[in-house]
Amino acid sequence: MIPQTEKALIGIIGGSGLYDPGIFSEFKEIKVYTPYGEPSDLITIGTVEGKKVAFLPRHGRRHRIPPHKINYKANIWALKELGVKWIISVSAVGSLRMDYKPGDFVIPDQFIDMTKSRNYTFFDGPVVAHVSMADPFCEHLRRLAIETARELNITVHESGTYICVEGPRFSTRAESRVWREVYKADIIGMTLVPEVNLACEMQMCYATIAMVTDYDVFAEVPVTAEEVTKVMSENTEKAKKLLYSLIRKIPENPQEGLCSCCNSLKTALV
Ligand SMILES: [Zn+2]
Repeated sequence: MIPQTEKALIGIIGGSGLYDPGIFSEFKEIKVYTPYGEPSDLITIGTVEGKKVAFLPRHGRRHRIPPHKINYKANIWALKELGVKWIISVSAVGSLRMDYKPGDFVIPDQFIDMTKSRNYTFFDGPVVAHVSMADPFCEHLRRLAIETARELNITVHESGTYICVEGPRFSTRAESRVWREVYKADIIGMTLVPEVNLACEMQMCYATIAMVTDYDVFAEVPVTAEEVTKVMSENTEKAKKLLYSLIRKIPENPQEGLCSCCNSLKTALV
């Protein structure tokens, strides 16, 4: 049992660069045990403007876990166990279109799953569930994120299709052309799936703040490591500001009519 003092309303899953203990008025680190093994790292629980927030670095501290080895089930289970209702996922992505520029933020509304070997569900039987993924992200949380980014003058795209590839390698030129021209995807990354579907199975509100770091290989735009590093560090600073303001706006409960994340199992169980 998790003591009441270690409960949180909001969960943030993001790169370790995002973690800034300075935003918390008080915090502590806790280890959460799950039936699926260990989460990526210790979870920091802190208070921001009276709201309890749990922070989990997706790749672990010092970025030691590659995308295909992340224990997504343990991560989502741990946040659920802590009482988290809202998950804000933050991730770096490549862009598949010229008008989604490095440094821009995207709040995706759709995804395409091209991963190959992950643990996709909490329902491995005997209980069977088929959750709806027609609208995979929490619309309420998406709106709050878009509105907050606009207020902070961050360039944000209100929609986008995130194609999730297995990795850890990057795409070939031929693949990149397919993602862009055939699948019409807008951004590409390696960590959204199965995080998003597992959160849905746990009936939690989930949205992603995708930060564009560079163009995918289709563009043949030569980028230097220096440029990518610069964009990434600027993105991290913007993301921190966005998170801080967004946390303040998140209500205790999702708004009826804006999302049905908490009821995702109502029609899913067989
Ligand atoms: Zn929701």
